[in-house]
Amino acid sequence: MKVIRTIALQQLVRKNIWSMKPYSSARSEYSGSAEVFLDANENYRDYVGDRGRNRYPDPLQRQLKEKISEVFSIGIDHLFLGNGSDEAIDLLYRAFAEPGSDSAMILPPTYGVYSVFAHLNDVGLISIPLRSDYSIDVGQIEKEIEEDPSGMKLLFICSPNNPTGNDIPLEDIEHLLAIFPGIVVVDEAYQDFSSRASAASLLDAYENLVVLRTLSKAWGLANARLGMAFASPQIIRILTNIKYPYNISGPAQETALQALDHVREVREGVAEIQAARTEMIDAFGRISYVECVYRSAANFILLKVSDADRLYQELKDRGIIIRNRTHEPGCTGCVRITVGSPQENLRLLEALRTLEGTL
Ligand SMILES: *Cc1c(COP(=O)(O)O)cnc(C)c1O
Repeated sequence: MKVIRTIALQQLVRKNIWSMKPYSSARSEYSGSAEVFLDANENYRDYVGDRGRNRYPDPLQRQLKEKISEVFSIGIDHLFLGNGSDEAIDLLYRAFAEPGSDSAMILPPTYGVYSVFAHLNDVGLISIPLRSDYSIDVGQIEKEIEEDPSGMKLLFICSPNNPTGNDIPLEDIEHLLAIFPGIVVVDEAYQDFSSRASAASLLDAYENLVVLRTLSKAWGLANARLGMAFASPQIIRILTNIKYPYNISGPAQETALQALDHVREVREGVAEIQAARTEMIDAFGRISYVECVYRSAANFILLKVSDADRLYQELKDRGIIIRNRTHEPGCTGCVRITVGSPQENLRLLEALRTLEGTL
């Protein structure tokens, strides 16, 4: 694919980050095989079995990256692994946004972590709300960029968007990649549940693109904390330089390697969730106090109901926890419900029906 947008990375990266010399750990200086390793001050005893828990893990996660590279068809030099995709989000702020002066653009209602890390890193926020159908207000973003593009370092686009569930069309993403002055981050945590193609197909054309993926959702590995960033080798190098040296634990690397052997089962699992999603959307639509069921390309469904606070409480009293989003701007009256197991979904639907006439 031909390159449409190149970037001068040095102009976008913070000066201290660009010039910084990364920490060089024992395992990054020597990672070959040897009989005696006395370089990392590890304990020679392993008190919890014989699984090498006394040894530091591979700081560059070479074996895991090779596997991910195969499964996701992404070059190893285009791949960063983080302690959840949340780590990659934090590192993107730290790499690109100067505290106290630069800013990030977010499109609410969306994933709350983007604004939390902006505050944590003392980075300004420019909020361009989604339209009432939860599509991106491209015109408003264009206006904002024309007025004052200085300091705009990051744009976060979540697709499928959490909590609304809709896909953002690739044409919108491509247009924003062409005009946004900084890095465009497309968070595809729920991409596996969508039928729209991944924005990763645009990586070769736009050097300012970072795509986030995770093993936490479709791959059933939320507990292991394994997130991924796909980007140009120059951006990957920066993220790798500034991460914690051993950011992915040994147990997490091993668990992820195991999970990645289950491609077929994961595909089947995704298809099951997609089918259940269709059934649940249908069933929700027939509940009297449900005012709107939003379409979903993810493993959750956003509902507008007559009284979200009360619904949340009533379900909680019945042992069922959903996510109340009614106090989020743009989500008044809304709750977000994850597609669960067949039994869980049945229990939820039964409870929802029981509440008819009372809500
Ligand atoms: C769940 C989720 C993630 C995943 O985060 P991890 O840290 O990888 O578990 C990322 N982005 C969005 C929008 C999510 O909803």
